[in-house]
Amino acid sequence: MGPDEFKQRFGRPCEVIARAPGRVNLIGDHTDYNEGFVLPLAVERHTRVFAARRDDARVRVHSSAAGETIEWPIDDWAASQFPHWTSYIAGVASLLRQRGARLNGCDLLIQSDVPLGGGLSSSAALEVAAAKALTCISGEALDSNDVADLCREAEHRFAGVPCGIMDQLASLLSKRDTALLLDCRSRAYEHIPFALVDHIVLIIDSGVRHALAESAYAKRVEECNHAVAHFRGLNAAVRSLRDVSIETVRAQMLQMPPLVAARAHHVVSENRRVQAAAEALRRGDIESLGPHMAASHRSLRDDYEVSCGELDEIVSSLTAMRGVVGCRMTGAGFGGCVVAIVHRAARESIQAGLLRRAGELGKPAWATLETRAGDGATIELA
Ligand code: ADP
Ligand code: MG
Repeated sequence: MGPDEFKQRFGRPCEVIARAPGRVNLIGDHTDYNEGFVLPLAVERHTRVFAARRDDARVRVHSSAAGETIEWPIDDWAASQFPHWTSYIAGVASLLRQRGARLNGCDLLIQSDVPLGGGLSSSAALEVAAAKALTCISGEALDSNDVADLCREAEHRFAGVPCGIMDQLASLLSKRDTALLLDCRSRAYEHIPFALVDHIVLIIDSGVRHALAESAYAKRVEECNHAVAHFRGLNAAVRSLRDVSIETVRAQMLQMPPLVAARAHHVVSENRRVQAAAEALRRGDIESLGPHMAASHRSLRDDYEVSCGELDEIVSSLTAMRGVVGCRMTGAGFGGCVVAIVHRAARESIQAGLLRRAGELGKPAWATLETRAGDGATIELA
């Protein structure tokens, strides 16, 4: 396995093993960069980074998924010269050095069973596992917020993806059998019991990867900023959509460009749904999640316009099936996954129903993944 492969490739044993999970968001999408609330959990799929120090200030990385080994001087990585997948690791290593970490070169082996580019945040799993491994070999003590910020900065500046903070914090802070209620402004969080007995979390991959997703994401961020500027004009204390009530949004609908009003309506109403879903989970009332998830999907589809035909199809198929408590698109959208909470006893008939529906539409079967809420990132060997 990993340690053996490391030894084979690099001719010496690994010193550190770090592991970080992917995540799925139960509810609260496009709220994180608006300083709002999210409710993700870690999936039981992980990225592992096996690491050992080098004296010569070079980074050498092998990724089993990429099927290649790439090497560069630690302070001299350039996006134009190396494959894109190395940007996440180069970012984490460079930013750690910039913070003054005693990090020289390193050899790294990356293994992962998180689907790449499938909306379960293999990117955050990779950054977080790399950051954990590299802080460990450099003897650096960073708390979870520092690690999350560093990983996000790596994703922004090196990988060129303007992501929020949810993915990194979910990968870092999740705890088995709980969902993570996270306030993306204060970074306060709560582990809400989510020990599934009669239910499972079922994730259905639409298979759609939209080429325009990144520019559309940036456009949504811009539209939200436009909305914030409008509300700040009414009340100077408004810093983000987090500070705006649903009543104010409704009262101002006609005073804003229709698209901007719709985007604000999604974000502000989604924050309320996250709170309501968290409250239901605190009561142990999983069945009550259903209507909130359905409303979230409609809002992402109609107000935020980040769903797509396949996601809508999967959601409407599931909604018509017995044993489905709730379902919605999850993540940034324009493709990616649907998350569903379903009765364990109904999982086979639900899978069969999805297979039938894909056949009727003349599409390949949608890949599915079952999970419970898993643990966050950890050092397995130090
Ligand atoms: P997601 O985070 O939803 O999986 P992203 O597009 O944000 O999708 O991140 C996927 C990218 O992250 C991959 O294309 C690859 O560049 C990088 N990546 C993630 N995991 C690995 C891995 N194990 N090995 C190499 N690259 C990886
Ligand atoms: Mg990602």
